[in-house]
Amino acid sequence: NKSLLAVEGLRKYFPLKGGVFNKTIGYVRAVEEVSFCVNKKETFSLVGESGCGKSTTGRTILRLEEPDEGRIIFNGEDINGYGKESMRRMRRHMQMVFQNPYNSLNPRMKIKALLAEPLQTHTVLSSKEIRGKIDEMLERVGLSASYKERYAHQFSGGQRQRISIARALITNPALVIADEPTSALDVSIQSQIINLLMQLQDELELTYVFISHDLNVVRHISSVVGVMYLGRIVEQAPTEELFARPSHPYTQALLSAVPSLLPGKKKERIILSGDVPNPADPPKGCPFHLRCRYAMDRCRTELPQSVALSDGHWASCHLL
Ligand code: SF4
Ligand code: MG
Repeated sequence: NKSLLAVEGLRKYFPLKGGVFNKTIGYVRAVEEVSFCVNKKETFSLVGESGCGKSTTGRTILRLEEPDEGRIIFNGEDINGYGKESMRRMRRHMQMVFQNPYNSLNPRMKIKALLAEPLQTHTVLSSKEIRGKIDEMLERVGLSASYKERYAHQFSGGQRQRISIARALITNPALVIADEPTSALDVSIQSQIINLLMQLQDELELTYVFISHDLNVVRHISSVVGVMYLGRIVEQAPTEELFARPSHPYTQALLSAVPSLLPGKKKERIILSGDVPNPADPPKGCPFHLRCRYAMDRCRTELPQSVALSDGHWASCHLL
């Protein structure tokens, strides 16, 4: 079995408080029945509009949020059952790179302290070994070892994201969840960071879960893509298959917004009417039916099951 991570039936709801007594009046259904596998040294991407549950899925896999239901099988073990201490030990093997390198690095700490912290928490290395690791990691991410004496605020956005990546990778994790790692950066810097992530994946044999709304980047970096809508994966396929034969109407609409990605000659832009429905009050039936141009009666009442289309390609739609 070459899969490093298998997520099965993941669910995460957030209570919605309100009224004079601030009681729970409902739930934001952030993640519903999400399942996927990620093979070793490959990249699985989650795409979709903001608010569709991509980030919550990533955070829940790392147990930064507690899942309500589901299995998170990492390296053959279901870590959803792990207590605090086992999870703390596991954390060095599963790291996260966040969207905003401006918030994720403490401005009052020198770079060497920021990079030493995960090693002090998770390893028993000596100070000398830690210094060696810091120098090595800074150079791996394309920075000079001498930068360790400076503070995060002295660096540009791109350099800060390199530091965040160094911090995530310094404990030698197997899995890295990267949540929109370039979307806070200048466009000119984005491809450098993507290329760095791909180079590091190769050198360090990393497995990625990559979260993004940028389909060009996703096509470039992923082995397999899952398209999320209202907390659910509605279509999943190996990357080239997804871009060649998008089968769910939502995927077709997403791809049509990026004309360079459309297969064939027809470059019709599918405009999605309306907004993503409120995840605290999702529609009955198909979650996409309020915006789908093919919606039928059945779509308004019956949740479509996933249909296998080809090897590794499935989608959930009554048309299939
Ligand atoms: Fe559209 Fe119906 Fe398919 Fe949902 S199930 S995507 S509403 S056709
Ligand atoms: Mg997000």
